[in-house]
Amino acid sequence: MANELNTSIQYLGGVGPKRAELLRRELGIETLSDLIHLYPFRYIDRSGIVPIAQVAPDVAFVQIQATVVSRTLYGPQSAVVSQETNPIHWGAVKRLSVIVEDASGRIEIVFFKGIRWNYQRLAPGSTFLFFGKPQGFNGRMNIVHPEVDVPQDGAMAQGTLTGVYPSTEKLKTGGITGKVMCKMQAAALSLCLPEIRETLPDYVLRDNALVPLQYALRNIHFPKDSYALQKATYRLKFEELFFLQLSLLKQKYIRSRGERGLTMPKVGPDFHACYNALPYTLTGAQQRVIKEIRADLTSGHQMNRLLQGDVGSGKTMVAVLSCLIAIGNGFQACIMAPTEVLAQQHYANIKKYLAPTSVQCALLTGSTTQKERRAIHAALEDGSLGILVGTHALLEDNVVFRNLGLAVIDEQHRFGVDQRAKLWAKGPRPGSSAPSENFASLIPPQRSACGPPVHEATGGHGFPREAAPGDAAIPPHVLVMTATPIPRTLAMTLYGDLDVSVIDEMPPGRKPVQTMCIGQNRRAAMYKFMRDEIARGRQVFVVFPLIFESEKTDLQNLEKGYEDIVSAFPLPDYKVAIVHGQQSNEEKNFNMAAFVAGRANILVSTTVIEVGVDVPNASVMVIESAQRFGLSQLHQLRGRVGRGAEKSYCILVKDVKTSKEAQERLDLMCRTEDGFEIAEQDMKMRGPGDLEGTQQSGLPINLAIASLAKDGTLLMQARVYADRVLDADPGLQEPRNELLLKELRKDKYDIKDYSKIS
Ligand code: ADP
Ligand code: MG
Repeated sequence: MANELNTSIQYLGGVGPKRAELLRRELGIETLSDLIHLYPFRYIDRSGIVPIAQVAPDVAFVQIQATVVSRTLYGPQSAVVSQETNPIHWGAVKRLSVIVEDASGRIEIVFFKGIRWNYQRLAPGSTFLFFGKPQGFNGRMNIVHPEVDVPQDGAMAQGTLTGVYPSTEKLKTGGITGKVMCKMQAAALSLCLPEIRETLPDYVLRDNALVPLQYALRNIHFPKDSYALQKATYRLKFEELFFLQLSLLKQKYIRSRGERGLTMPKVGPDFHACYNALPYTLTGAQQRVIKEIRADLTSGHQMNRLLQGDVGSGKTMVAVLSCLIAIGNGFQACIMAPTEVLAQQHYANIKKYLAPTSVQCALLTGSTTQKERRAIHAALEDGSLGILVGTHALLEDNVVFRNLGLAVIDEQHRFGVDQRAKLWAKGPRPGSSAPSENFASLIPPQRSACGPPVHEATGGHGFPREAAPGDAAIPPHVLVMTATPIPRTLAMTLYGDLDVSVIDEMPPGRKPVQTMCIGQNRRAAMYKFMRDEIARGRQVFVVFPLIFESEKTDLQNLEKGYEDIVSAFPLPDYKVAIVHGQQSNEEKNFNMAAFVAGRANILVSTTVIEVGVDVPNASVMVIESAQRFGLSQLHQLRGRVGRGAEKSYCILVKDVKTSKEAQERLDLMCRTEDGFEIAEQDMKMRGPGDLEGTQQSGLPINLAIASLAKDGTLLMQARVYADRVLDADPGLQEPRNELLLKELRKDKYDIKDYSKIS
């Protein structure tokens, strides 16, 4: 039996090959099924009729019911082509003007297209419904190309809510107007609706009070009334979010019940050595998260945990202690950072934390020399190197761990999916020698010497690791850290199959950062404020945006800003350092070091300081052309100050040309310091598809009907319910779940297992 749903739209009445091609190119619609799954994004209420006297220009669409008074045809230069009675030369006609009236007044209706047909049907004395957008023109008002219907005509009979579908300029000029789209949908539905099979089992419909799919589809396109529309929308959104969560959670269930993980029952002496030497006590949140990680590491299953915590919440410490647990069980660990600067800073910090331990740690980045590399490779393979910190250089094929037990990924959203996949394969392979209890005794520990080991390369002697073909690696435990707070709804989807830990408590002593937004006219006052702060021994960050997206012109922009600052803060009273992406590492380090050590009062930079750098003495963050930054970037930058005991400030300097949206962002920054609130708002303002990190994720963020930004509550409901379904039947093997399993096998739910690539 032919399946109507898979029929090409070409064969739908009035479509044909040309329009079919247009629909395919513009909207990706090929089959009737594709078409009926294109939903209206809003509805026009055509239940009301507005008196002409109340029609105002440039407001939303209005519907009037009016009688034709007169018609006039115009040629070029608005010459009247003909009177009503004369034979008409249609070729010369450029415009049709129709005056219509109701009891309250008159208005002009204008057509530039379809003139002949409209002229003929709009006979004086007859009454129509006109639906369109009024506009002011030469001090008068008209409606151009309204939809024209006979009262009580088809469109009205179908219901009063008319769907508005996504469209493009090309579709409109190709003749696929809103009205044509509605007609196509009606035709497609009448052909296919009986064939559409329910995708949700009865019990799911009942539990969640959902309407059947056929009802939902009919009413999403042609709502009987607003109540039916609400029911239809709810059902389709729930279904979409439910299957998304079901698919993600199912992977999690399979993993937590199936996938083998490295067992790490011990804590080990290095953990205790580090912990006991800490100059502070861990915050409650840090302790809780470490407990969560401990539980994962001892479970026998692979850990896949996302650690969210605002800038400065103390994630590094958690990462280091986790690495030390791995080491305490005879494994190695690595920490991967997205940039060289950040990797260096991690390395420097971690070295300090490791000082009281016997753990060896090294740094591997793009600028590590060949000689150092050889030493690192050797120490990795013989197991003497405990922690390797680095950039994506860690992912290179020749970086072979003897026994990688834990991979920590910092700021993971900056890593591409492919890069992350490589880490996965670096775990120990079955058959490779098990970690020896006393392997450390084979390699004399070098207390607190954390630089790249300098002893001769051993060529992997001691624990040769021959990977047999087809021999799958045992995945290391994975801890993903992000300082970009991700709205809860998005996190549940982006990281739907990961466990999430949140550090929601700042180390004590952090003071709120006072944030203000100023215009260029207050630059002098700002400079004075900066001088005052510097006079009190504080330091200032000044950040410039990347504007031109070309390294050369951005550099010019930065250099000009730098010169302005230098002339406002001249030597010998002030020292200004500059850091940007075009500098050599030496230059960068030199300038950075000057600021960190307090030799420079001001650090001018691009966003390279966004992550990482910790300068507690810096109390002012000036962000130039702040309107150009996204919210999450502004938040990250602000997090650079307020780290010391002093009161800190963030000054957002905006340009004259600041859009309304940009102003909203700046206002929000002044209003709150809560990273999660900022992230929520960011998602609402921009939509989840534009949030940092979501594009690379490969997840179907742009859903057909539900919105991750707006349907948070429903998403929660769908997730809780999906969890319930899986809890009762993890493999979806029961007969009543047959439909669910079938639906999950469809391409659109073939979501990669993201735990495996993050
Ligand atoms: P994050 O990586 O989350 O941005 P860091 O790990 O860099 O934060 O920590 C920020 C600062 O807070 C560091 O200087 C660190 O030494 C300090 N810190 C971390 N944990 C604590 C704590 N429990 N008490 C006091 N200071 C802490
Ligand atoms: Mg950090």
